[in-house]
Amino acid sequence: MARNAIKVLTDKGNTTHILIKGTNTATLNALRRTILSEVPVLAIEELSIYENNGVLFDEFLGHRMGMVPLITDPKSYKLGDKVKISLDVTGPGMVYSRDIHVVDEAVKVADERIPLAKLKAGQRIRMEGDAVMGQGKDHVKYQPGVVGFRALPVFTINESIPSEIMQRIAQSCPVNIIEVKGKKLNITQEADCTLCGHCEEVGGSSNIQVDADDTGFTLMLETHGGLSNKDILHQSCNILVEKTKGFLSQIEEGL
Ligand code: SF4
Repeated sequence: MARNAIKVLTDKGNTTHILIKGTNTATLNALRRTILSEVPVLAIEELSIYENNGVLFDEFLGHRMGMVPLITDPKSYKLGDKVKISLDVTGPGMVYSRDIHVVDEAVKVADERIPLAKLKAGQRIRMEGDAVMGQGKDHVKYQPGVVGFRALPVFTINESIPSEIMQRIAQSCPVNIIEVKGKKLNITQEADCTLCGHCEEVGGSSNIQVDADDTGFTLMLETHGGLSNKDILHQSCNILVEKTKGFLSQIEEGL
């Protein structure tokens, strides 16, 4: 793949959109599955609940604790590593993710405002436990984020569309990426095309045709906050490379 075949389209908040050309569906799907099932992150796994007289029973509370994303330094924590956590809150009031105390100060909750339980006066939750580096293939709480990809569009546009149909085609696009420029139709942001086919339905396939490119894609990655999107991509690529190397050496040994 050429170096300029990858371009960051947007990188806002937790979400990054990347344009990738010169690849195929199988490669991107391997990357997607690696991100979801193999890239390790920290999540609360084991808990000793010493006191809980609030309305949420222990298992419910444990599940909520497990789903709190923890900011992980992938250089310091490897798969299977653990770090101690604790929580001790007395009501009245809301227990938030910020109340989780992690022994290693480098590990923090990704969002401090996640409500965990509501306590009345005199109610108390006191617990200790471990956050463990795990993988999404074992539990969804270890998935570092959500990821998907979409094929880029390939437009075939008739050179001589009547101007009135041109206007109709431009107005039909739900994401407003078709404009009439002079006597031609112009696509402004092809990566935003959802391949809905509405322009084709309105304008007729003899005037405009939209097909999915099988070598160009937009990858959408949204971290849960534990790792940066850049780290997620780095790690997933490294895992894929290591797996491929392992497969190659097995082939060499076997032949
Ligand atoms: S396929 Fe849908 S999103 Fe894409 S240009 Fe046509 S109308 Fe717009």
